[in-house]
Amino acid sequence: MSRGLFWFRRDLRLADNPALERACRSHDALLLVYVDEAADAGFDASRAWLRRSLDALAVDVARIGGRLHVLAGDAEQVIPALAAATGAEAVHVSALHEPDADARDARLARALARGGVVLRRSAGRLMTDPEMVLSKVSTPYRVFTPFLKAARPGWRYRPRAAPRRLACFGLPEGMQRLQATLAAPAPDWDRGFWETWTPGERAAQQRLERFLEHLDDYPGQRDRPAIDATSRLSPHLHFGEISPARALDAALRRGGPGTDKFVAELGWREFGYYVLNHWPHSTTDNFNPRFDGIAWRRDEAALEAWRRGRTGVPLVDAGMRQLWHEGWMHNRVRMVVASYLSKHIGIHWASGAAWFMHTLVDADLANNTLGWQWVAGSGVDAAPYHRVFNPVTQSRRFDPEGVYLRRWLPELRRLDDDRIHAPWEKGGAPRGYPSRPIVDLAEGRAEALQRLARASD
Ligand code: FAD
Repeated sequence: MSRGLFWFRRDLRLADNPALERACRSHDALLLVYVDEAADAGFDASRAWLRRSLDALAVDVARIGGRLHVLAGDAEQVIPALAAATGAEAVHVSALHEPDADARDARLARALARGGVVLRRSAGRLMTDPEMVLSKVSTPYRVFTPFLKAARPGWRYRPRAAPRRLACFGLPEGMQRLQATLAAPAPDWDRGFWETWTPGERAAQQRLERFLEHLDDYPGQRDRPAIDATSRLSPHLHFGEISPARALDAALRRGGPGTDKFVAELGWREFGYYVLNHWPHSTTDNFNPRFDGIAWRRDEAALEAWRRGRTGVPLVDAGMRQLWHEGWMHNRVRMVVASYLSKHIGIHWASGAAWFMHTLVDADLANNTLGWQWVAGSGVDAAPYHRVFNPVTQSRRFDPEGVYLRRWLPELRRLDDDRIHAPWEKGGAPRGYPSRPIVDLAEGRAEALQRLARASD
């Protein structure tokens, strides 16, 4: 009888999971595990998501006869020990496509091989193999549009069904002490998350179906933060509760005028991983070295005001409060808050990126880095530095009636549609809200441009 170990990571689903399908095909029985390696680390919003996602997966697994074991420990120790104790012939995983994690897999594969066990990695988190998509001169693309054109023909469409049954065996005696459950955050920071979100494969599929009903409106409405016009699939995709191939396939079958735009956004996700794989240092270093000379400001009070939604700029504050309450922020507003921090206030983009990684349920190293470097102007195919988002213009354009602002800023609820975008301009801000922006918009813009000019001297 052939035994295999299936190690769930960021592929917390049963359907269209090539690694799981391969494991089921290769063995008579499987041991299904998730290894929690962050039990002692600080609590991030995405961990609250993970906790519920694992619960949902355990239920789905049980429904088809299997059992999921959540263990705590260092996977580099736990996985080889489990393989040895169970006599597993292979360990199956989905590739993570993050350079550090991939390097670790390589180490783990060597350790397992010493005991005669094979690590089998399958694709499934991405549709693009970063190594296969290169320009005519065999260099990686730095610009999104040619990347998409080259990558898209290789994307796989036909998602596979979930296994009908899972034949599983249990944890060996000596390993039961590793079993763990993820603790909830204290105090209950995540309470607001669940007004909006339901983690898990079923919820992901339902969200996709609901979104597709309105796909035609996506191009016209996707920039309006008050309207639920985007898919909100990002945390589901991050944790692999749904595969990008399934989202792509469903959108293509649905068809209509929103399809190309949605497919392009899935393409940005692919591009984020592509950039991370070709330029791993971009998580910490400016992609464009011209930015290394920028004299960033260090201002803990301003950073804290930004984090807490107390800058005095309504669209920025609304976004930061949505982030804290829901663990998510609309893409248009992500761009605006990132621009206000890195350009008007002048704080290094990495400080903002770190706060996003802490507070987003969809916190994703590749896409967060791409987003921050894009806005800051220091990244691949980035917005030009001199194009500084004006948060008031953005607010008037994309939330003209102030619906989004009123939802997140109760202090401003009574202001009329004209005043609410910039209360300091006419009549002042109501009590309880900062009387003016912590950094004036015109001065902040001018200083940002000077900072870049000085860095280029
Ligand atoms: P939709 O508009 O429905 O798009 C569908 C899917 O395409 C998304 O779920 C996402 O997977 C992908 N996608 C859409 N826009 C982008 C984009 N600009 N870049 C990369 N992928 C995209 N996305 C994350 O998943 N995790 C992050 O940590 C993250 N950090 C960001 C930080 C900044 C500063 C910025 C500007 C953007 C960031 N994004 C991040 C990208 C984007 O904001 C979110 O993916 C998007 O808002 C998710 O909402 P949605 O699922 O409704 O998107």
